[in-house]
Amino acid sequence: MASAPSLATGAAMFDVVIIGAGPAGSTLARLLPERLRVLLVDQRRLDLVASEDPSAAKLCGGLLAPAAQRALAHQGLGVPSGVLSGPQLFAVRTLDADAGLERLYQRHYLNVDRDAFDRWLCSLVPSTVTRAMGWSLVGFEHDASGAMTVFRTPGGGRASARASVVVGADGATSLVRRLAYREAPAPRRYVAVQGVFETAPAQDPYYGALFDSSITDHYGWTIPKGDTLVAGVAVPEGLGVVAAYDAFVGRARASGFRLGRELGRGSAAVARPIAPAQMNLGAGRVLLAGEAAGLISPSSAEGISYA
Ligand SMILES: Cc1cc2nc3c(=O)[nH]c(=O)nc-3n(C[C@H](O)[C@H](O)[C@H](O)COP(=O)(O)OP(=O)(O)OC[C@H]3O[C@@H](n4cnc5c(N)ncnc54)[C@H](O)[C@@H]3O)c2cc1C
Repeated sequence: MASAPSLATGAAMFDVVIIGAGPAGSTLARLLPERLRVLLVDQRRLDLVASEDPSAAKLCGGLLAPAAQRALAHQGLGVPSGVLSGPQLFAVRTLDADAGLERLYQRHYLNVDRDAFDRWLCSLVPSTVTRAMGWSLVGFEHDASGAMTVFRTPGGGRASARASVVVGADGATSLVRRLAYREAPAPRRYVAVQGVFETAPAQDPYYGALFDSSITDHYGWTIPKGDTLVAGVAVPEGLGVVAAYDAFVGRARASGFRLGRELGRGSAAVARPIAPAQMNLGAGRVLLAGEAAGLISPSSAEGISYA
């Protein structure tokens, strides 16, 4: 695997610089022709084992929907056992509080440890790709001939790289998209709050989806994960996120979802495209991929399938 230190001394030149080594960026880096000079950058140390990476794991439910499974299958990939979590889920329990409807239906998910999934995908990137892990994009400029990207390096220094093409695969809050497509329509931003709960007294055997417009116009979910249950809700940015989360947890418990004692919680941005124009793959020297491009389900917030 080519390493990044030579970048620290000057503006190295690449055909493609990919910002973000989540599912979209790692997959792109793996699939690009090996003759291209590719730089893959992430602020996380995805080249390390999780216990050695001080950066936070991506907050996620870790369910691979059928479309994600299909995409992996078309790439000839299967998910290693060390990446799988449990239990494996093929039932969905939906509760529409507004309509007073409840349904159980069959849909098969792969239940994974999301952090292990990201590290596994990153490990598949070929050695011809230069990786700069622990580096953060802080800005870039571009014109008709290419782009100059500027990074903060792990030691607090600065480094730069020139590229013929920059790809923003940097997720829901994409800096690449904000810098290059400031005026273009963008998906509405939501905040997802997700907690980890003890299971009480036993584990729910399904993925739960709870719709209640008095809490959010998006939805809340419950997902058994190992010996715990994760439960979260997505709320429009700027609204009372904590109050909505508390209301969702109360509603889920009252509806029979088995949420025991809360062990911890986190929050993250999530995009919600509601019009085709909000999905933007970029053009010319600045392209976008995955959630940075607005590719995520507006109804379920499943985005790994489109990364
Ligand atoms: C709470 C929650 C639960 C979810 N649950 C599911 C689920 O169960 N199933 C599902 O399919 N989807 C789920 N999603 C959505 C899914 O996580 C995303 O859509 C998916 O991760 C998008 O992949 P990506 O590669 O485009 O972006 P990301 O996975 O967000 O990867 C972006 C990468 O870019 C890096 N990065 C960002 N900015 C910079 C920068 N300036 N410099 C360097 N690196 C940078 C980040 O460190 C990250 O590694 C969930 C989202 C949330 C918030």
